[in-house]
Amino acid sequence: MRSDRDPATPAQELKGLAAVVTGGASGIGAAIAARLHRAGARVAVLDLDPAGVDERFAAFCADVSDRASVDAAVRAAAERFGRLDIVVNNAGIGAQGDITANDDAEWARVLSINVTGIARVTSAALPWLRSSPAAAVCNTASIAATAGLPQRALYSASKGAVVALTRAMAADHVREGIRVNAVCPGTADTPWIGRLLDSAPDPVAERAALEARQPHGRLVTADEVAAAVLYLVSPAAGSTTGTFVEVDGGMSGLRLRPQ
Ligand code: NAD
Repeated sequence: MRSDRDPATPAQELKGLAAVVTGGASGIGAAIAARLHRAGARVAVLDLDPAGVDERFAAFCADVSDRASVDAAVRAAAERFGRLDIVVNNAGIGAQGDITANDDAEWARVLSINVTGIARVTSAALPWLRSSPAAAVCNTASIAATAGLPQRALYSASKGAVVALTRAMAADHVREGIRVNAVCPGTADTPWIGRLLDSAPDPVAERAALEARQPHGRLVTADEVAAAVLYLVSPAAGSTTGTFVEVDGGMSGLRLRPQ
């Protein structure tokens, strides 16, 4: 007989729990949805474009920058499952350039999706999280929250705010039994980065430069980020709140000598 520790039988640490993953139709979000599902959770994906969402998940069309759309989708997911225990705020968009590169409307748009979106989605889920025995929220921040990256002023401001918001939310809700943490991925191999590389003058050289920037010499995989999220939202992390896990090949903390 197989034990729970047999790698062929994934541990069902989220059995009986229900999760919402925003931006779960692509990249890191899709990997998170798959991981949580494999761990036994029922999963709802909220996405601007849920057309290609895996049929194992409940898919809802939602724009995290629109409160009415978020409220309706979160309510629909909670009613489908009869509960909500886990919220993964992963939907996000990029922005390039220094502080002169984006106008006020673009600053407002990026902050509304990357930062306020987390407040909208989690607020809508709070009534259900408060009655969960294992409530957990995980926000997707970025290496850009903690390292100064060139030509990423607006994006970095938004992800720094995600880390600050994560800590504030953790403080506000710890006594309600709701844990709040974040992951900070380094450059991850997703359709987003594929689009960035496609728009570079020399995509091969650009990819090599991104790989060389990470001490482990390659891009992060979406599944590596998802594994960290699974840990943070699982009951196994019951004493972990108000912090973040870096999944960046060592980029934020290591100082290597040139080869
Ligand atoms: P992706 O573009 O592959 O996927 C993002 C998903 O979010 C898409 O399905 C998109 O439709 C959805 N989305 C975008 N705006 C939305 C909105 N307003 N409402 C609802 N859904 C919306 O991107 P990814 O690389 O998987 O990135 C996911 C998250 O990870 C983002 O928050 C991003 O900032 C963060 N991140 C990515 C990297 C990386 O290198 N890929 C590194 C660090 C952090």
